[in-house]
Amino acid sequence: MKRLLAACAVAAVSLAGASAAPIQSPSDFLGFPVGADRKIADYRQIVSYFRMLDSASPRVEVQDLGKTTLGEDMIMAVISSEQNVANSRRIREVARRLADPRGLSDADAETLVREGKVVLLITCNIHSTEIGASQMAMEWAHALATAEDAETKRRLENVVLLLVPSLNPDGQMMETGWYRKNLGTKFEGSRMPWLYHHYVGHDNNRDWFMLTQKETRAMSRVMYHEWFPQIFLDEHQMGSTGPRIFVPPYADPVDPDIHPLVWRDVNVIGANMAMRLEQAGKSGVIYGYSYDAYWPGGTKNTGWWKNMSGLLTEVASVRFATPIVIPPGELAGGRKGLVEYGPQTNFPNPWPGGAWRLRDIVDYERIASDAILETCAERREDFLRNMLARSRAAIAAAGPRDAWRIPSDQPDRPSAVQLARLMNEHNVEVFTAGNGDFWIPLAQPYGKFVNEMFTPQRYPEVKLVAGKEIVRPYDVSAWTLPLMMGVRVEKTTLPEGLARYRPLAEPTPEPSGGAFALKPGSPENAKVVNAALRARGASVTIARAPLTQAGQTWPAGTVFLDAAGARAAAPVLPDSAVEWEPVASAPASVEKVRAPRVGLYKPWAASMDEGWTRWVLEQYGFDPKSVDNKTVRAGRLAEKFDAIVLPDVEKEVIANGKPRVEEGGMRYFADLPPEYAGGLEKEGAKALADFVEAGGTLVAFDSASDWVIESFNIPVRNVLYRAKADDFSSAGALVRLHVTPGHPVTDGLPEEVAAFVDDSTVFQTAAGGAELQRWVLAAYPESSRDVLLSGWIRGEDRLARRAAAVAMTYGKGKIVLLGFRPQHRAQTHGTFPFLFNALYWSTAAERPK
Ligand SMILES: [Zn+2]
Repeated sequence: MKRLLAACAVAAVSLAGASAAPIQSPSDFLGFPVGADRKIADYRQIVSYFRMLDSASPRVEVQDLGKTTLGEDMIMAVISSEQNVANSRRIREVARRLADPRGLSDADAETLVREGKVVLLITCNIHSTEIGASQMAMEWAHALATAEDAETKRRLENVVLLLVPSLNPDGQMMETGWYRKNLGTKFEGSRMPWLYHHYVGHDNNRDWFMLTQKETRAMSRVMYHEWFPQIFLDEHQMGSTGPRIFVPPYADPVDPDIHPLVWRDVNVIGANMAMRLEQAGKSGVIYGYSYDAYWPGGTKNTGWWKNMSGLLTEVASVRFATPIVIPPGELAGGRKGLVEYGPQTNFPNPWPGGAWRLRDIVDYERIASDAILETCAERREDFLRNMLARSRAAIAAAGPRDAWRIPSDQPDRPSAVQLARLMNEHNVEVFTAGNGDFWIPLAQPYGKFVNEMFTPQRYPEVKLVAGKEIVRPYDVSAWTLPLMMGVRVEKTTLPEGLARYRPLAEPTPEPSGGAFALKPGSPENAKVVNAALRARGASVTIARAPLTQAGQTWPAGTVFLDAAGARAAAPVLPDSAVEWEPVASAPASVEKVRAPRVGLYKPWAASMDEGWTRWVLEQYGFDPKSVDNKTVRAGRLAEKFDAIVLPDVEKEVIANGKPRVEEGGMRYFADLPPEYAGGLEKEGAKALADFVEAGGTLVAFDSASDWVIESFNIPVRNVLYRAKADDFSSAGALVRLHVTPGHPVTDGLPEEVAAFVDDSTVFQTAAGGAELQRWVLAAYPESSRDVLLSGWIRGEDRLARRAAAVAMTYGKGKIVLLGFRPQHRAQTHGTFPFLFNALYWSTAAERPK
């Protein structure tokens, strides 16, 4: 509709232009000035404002990117000159060709560079407490839609801006709701006691290579399938007591595989941001601080391996929208790039302290946003040519027949299929061979991304000054997908005769209506098993030892679905890609599997590990019920649950709701409203002990094991409890574990798995009383040299030979302690079975032998 109007408007412009009502500013629209103290527009208001802009201005077109997790509209505003907005299809096509220049001649490429526009993506407010940018977006969009000065028009002629006012609309609604509810009370500006993304909270910016959440997937589609932006800025906020704004250049380390022109683009833009801020009298601008150029989990980070120049800004926060005052003595460095707070080359004009308010955040972000738009317009041809150069270099970095092969023959073939599908979703070209192998040639635009995801990480031990201490990883240090997913891959030479892989278009054998057996070992089996368990009258059984019947041999862990179960599970077969075989009937001497009733502990100190656990369990067809402190303390848990899971939450938070205080650290902990205060306390510990005594199963991940060890009288200790960082330290690394076969929790698992550890928990067990049985389910290798598979660890010798996962009986029930994170960020498919199997084990009627 808008395009037609735009075409007609040319003739009428002199008349209509004179009489058209001015486009309403966001302040008029909202009824308060944008950025005013204690005033905040919620996401639905923001969307209404953008939709109004769309209908009022030919420079603005709102695109709907789909629904969020909780059903909000995800929107993105395309903002450019009227002509560019009308011509956006062609601009996208040029951007796509520059991002994938295979077959493009130099002359044609140069024509595209001359013709093309810079596609600049700016995302705001992925972290929902970092609220400023969601407000700034309205103000900026209005300014761009209404400005008549030659400079703004020139910028909009050269650049197509894709502006996403919030990358987590659900959290924006939650946080503004929480803030408004507590306004004027002692809890004004307090943190919310639950995650600001329904499943993943702050980790929504850790999901950009695994693509699990709706918001991530929608944005990833925009970036790598539709618009191919050359430049991307993600706007964040940081703590209150350091610099006022971080702009690029980034801090060390830098990944050497990323094309250096990424950093050249980024640094030119960052330098202009800093200059424009300084000219506007904004102090406290820093670069080369805290945020590195190495880790690929964040929005703009993943793009570096896809030849995109991704930038970050971080502005100092207030108490959501409530102003704060920082006395000079509270200002502190203490982070990479600023050890002591004071002037230095990357921070020439420190902010002196004083009042800091939402309006300051909006101002800093607005200036930085204008500066990136300015540089993109100024450097249009450079940035397009650089994109072309990076894409060409990525394609040329590999030989024409260099490829990764994902063999069809796998211990866990369904997870191999999931990996191939994930690469395809990243717009990586994946091929299939007649035998079911997947092939990924490396001479393609995103070949470097594939290499980064498939190759073990070796963290560069960069030192800022001579001495022992290295720059610590910003986040995790390992993201090797085949290891995490338990999939074998090899780098080899591409054969002839491959076909392009089209996920879910492959024919799936339909079960004939009879019973079938599932090949054990894949987490995907749980989707099928749980679908069958939900069906009335279906029978699901499992072989607890190897079985032979009618010439067929079934390994321990094989699950059998009867005809009713098979029918119920048929709809999930294509998605799960499980391997199954028809059987006449389930063999005798199998154990019945029941649907476990799962309780998942949810502390009020919002736990991302809790959210990820809930996500994984729901995705795999379990039906976990959240249990809060009050529910646990009320007891009678055995009536409701077979298993209760304690996610990776530190023992102090479980015990009393307050995080641990470091030696000599601040003891202050801001109160939550009384209904969210406290932890399990003594009654909760007693209730969980009663639950297990009576036959329940308690499963704890990582540091929650410390709470179990302290609260239950069990013969196990954590060898690394409060280990000094000099002695042992790890940052999200992948380690090798040897799995002990012959236990319901390990049935079907391979002999060796890669487990994700993050300053993890390592067990020493001992013999308990005669009534107590214990099992080491998985252990570290004998030699410390064999421990690390990917990432960074100091002190591997502390892990060698120790137990990583243990189980024991306790009264009539069981305890399972997993010293690693079996479900870490929904990435570690290879260790999901530890969790799933423990849940099925909880329903076993018999006391384990
Ligand atoms: Zn953030």
